[in-house]
Amino acid sequence: MPAGDNKILFDCFKPRIVPPHLYIHIPYCVTKCPYCDFYSAPIESLPNPDIYIDAVLDELSFCIGKFDTIFIGGGTPSAIPLKTFERLLKKIAERLKSGYEWSVEANPKDVTSELVRMLKDYGVNRFSIGFQSSSDNVLKRLGRRHSQKDNECAVETAVNAGFEKISGDIIFGLPNDELEKTLDFFLQNNISHLSAYELHVEGNSRWNIDGYDPSVSDEEKMKCMEKTIFILEERGIMRYEISNFAKPGFECRSHINVWSSGEYVGIGAGAHGFEQGIRYVHLPNTKEYVENKIVEYEDSNKLKENAIAMETMMLGMRMIRGIDIEKLSPLRKNALMNRKNILDSLTADGLIEIFGSIIKPTSRGLLFVNEIALRFA
Ligand code: SF4
Repeated sequence: MPAGDNKILFDCFKPRIVPPHLYIHIPYCVTKCPYCDFYSAPIESLPNPDIYIDAVLDELSFCIGKFDTIFIGGGTPSAIPLKTFERLLKKIAERLKSGYEWSVEANPKDVTSELVRMLKDYGVNRFSIGFQSSSDNVLKRLGRRHSQKDNECAVETAVNAGFEKISGDIIFGLPNDELEKTLDFFLQNNISHLSAYELHVEGNSRWNIDGYDPSVSDEEKMKCMEKTIFILEERGIMRYEISNFAKPGFECRSHINVWSSGEYVGIGAGAHGFEQGIRYVHLPNTKEYVENKIVEYEDSNKLKENAIAMETMMLGMRMIRGIDIEKLSPLRKNALMNRKNILDSLTADGLIEIFGSIIKPTSRGLLFVNEIALRFA
């Protein structure tokens, strides 16, 4: 997020009516994977999870309203003790709108019958499992702490507990990553949603710090994605966003809200949120979060119109269905409508298509989302 002059401190610990979409970040992991650039850390290096959940619940208590979508991500939410996790689930269960979608992420190694029963009992209805690969060799090279046997047990346990909406993450882009085997595992197990991410060694990941990058070329990664699209779509699991696939009706509503420039509450260290036109990010520092409750934010109401248009397109053109400008806030709608010449040039270049109020990327445009957005800079 560009900070610029708008960067100031913001107190999320104030009572306010909030949007009906909630993201909670649990930065705890058992071990840190060497390719990972997310804000997460081994459990023993962070404050006691109970103290962290106290702070999260404290922040949640200032949010007035019920939630239509909830996403508890990380990190690894399943890495914290069950009793601690239960305290969070209990509070959220009191705040659900009818027809809600509630997702929780887990590592396959942590998927026990106790965990899934607890999630089901409190009303979690979408379970996202970090399988990453079906190859033990690849899992080992990625530094993952689970095996394909754990992946298989995790699906079985989740299905037996009655989860119909199961999502899985995979990573591709290591040499000889046995991608077909991984996709076959998804298809065999009838998994309804898949997030397929390219391996990128970047930021503060250990591999990047060590100057180690085992990933294949961009061209080969593109071929992997083409293969993934072909195999999944042939079986009715459709690509609905650059990296996400689902059976019709199983798309993640929580993510769609974010890509549609919808507002949402973000709670926890490192969590992003977007309320009243203000994008904020909690400092990626759990100790600071627990002790000082400081959040940085940027008031996008004060952003220049071109930056708003750029941000809207950067998010919205990730989705195959694109965006409906009639459903955007007046600020965003105007930012795009006042740049009709840019929209026309993107259309002429074959990067987007416009049907009435819908703006969507072409299949070529999906390869150039950053370039599309930068035209508005
Ligand atoms: S990849 Fe996932 S499990 Fe591994 S360190 Fe990052 S957040 Fe934790």
